Amino acid sequence: MLKTIVSAYYCDNYDENNVYNIVEKVVKSFGNIADIIKPNSKVLIKLNLLSAYTPEQAITTHPSIAKAIIKIIKKAGAIPVMGDSPGNLMNGIENIWKKTGMLQVAKEENVELINFEACGCVEVSIKHPTVKQIYVTKAIMDCDYIINLPKLKTHTFMGFTCGVKNFYGIIPGARKVEYHKLAPTPREFACLLSEIYRMVKEKLLFTIVDGVEGLEGNGPSLSGQKRKYNIIACSQDTVMLDSFILNKLGIKTKNNLLLNPLKEKNLGDTDLQNMIYVGDKISCFNFDKTKLPITNFLNLLPSWLARFVAKYAGKLFWVKPNIIEDKCVGCLQCMKSCPAKAIIKENEKTKPVIQKDKCIGCFCCHELCLHKAIEIKESFIASFFIKK
Ligand code: SF4
Ligand code: SF4
Repeated sequence: MLKTIVSAYYCDNYDENNVYNIVEKVVKSFGNIADIIKPNSKVLIKLNLLSAYTPEQAITTHPSIAKAIIKIIKKAGAIPVMGDSPGNLMNGIENIWKKTGMLQVAKEENVELINFEACGCVEVSIKHPTVKQIYVTKAIMDCDYIINLPKLKTHTFMGFTCGVKNFYGIIPGARKVEYHKLAPTPREFACLLSEIYRMVKEKLLFTIVDGVEGLEGNGPSLSGQKRKYNIIACSQDTVMLDSFILNKLGIKTKNNLLLNPLKEKNLGDTDLQNMIYVGDKISCFNFDKTKLPITNFLNLLPSWLARFVAKYAGKLFWVKPNIIEDKCVGCLQCMKSCPAKAIIKENEKTKPVIQKDKCIGCFCCHELCLHKAIEIKESFIASFFIKK
């Protein structure tokens, strides 16, 4: 079995020079960048821009990380471009670019910011039990290489979000909701992510994780708590990198929902015995007692029990979102993003409500509500399994 390098260095602030030095160091662990990237080639930097959040909220890729990799790509004589398709486009992509600090970076570095919704898309056939074709942004076809810049966050639906999950953003706009509906369970969704990862794998040079600050708890957005993990980590095998991060978060990598399909399809290595670690002492990173999402216990159930719960005990054993009426401003973003059409609004004067019997528990509404108006509630029986 070939050994895979994972490189990680301590970083406790987003000072531009400091971040540049560390990003350069993690990338250099793989050799001279000029030998890896051909001159004049086009390198797509895949950002993680969930919605219009500021860098201080630790939900989106920090601009200092983007700036550092832009400079490194330019130094190698190549042409960087940046892009993503955020989950919540409510006030327009320009607003998201501005608030996340990416517009400023693009101006300062004279780099094109690509709107994945507007640049066109292509239809691709995939191997999935329920999703046969998907549309992905043309930007991944138009580039020579991809560099992935995910944010390190816990995730209510998938347990965590890092390298592989960040590629769900190559699906433009509302189609993300459509495919989520066709792959509603974490297992089906993980299989879909593995097919998306298959599409980008060949062009993918590096995944560089922005874990200087990230989220713990009920991420990946406002309901998560900001946490300094003090790490910038990189690998050419995103699956191994995700396995490494998962292990540090204290989530089992064996039989992990997200990693399993990737492993089965030989899209990467999940065995940490095959990892060559380069970097600072692992104990200097701050992963101690990371708070995992409230739903994490569901992923720990043996598959026979998970199937039993899904089939027979769903009414007694559930974890579902709930709209807090007082906090809701009635923007209806949750309704638009619900793949199961489980959110309704009875009339002009009422706030939306979630129909629990239709809800598939994907937590897209919880992820995309910008007003912290969606809480997560568990049934009486489920509460016994949740560590608070
Ligand atoms: S719950 Fe959030 S997303 Fe839904 S309408 Fe209210 S404020 Fe908007
Ligand atoms: S109500 Fe929320 S969690 Fe339930 S299916 Fe709709 S988006 Fe997913």
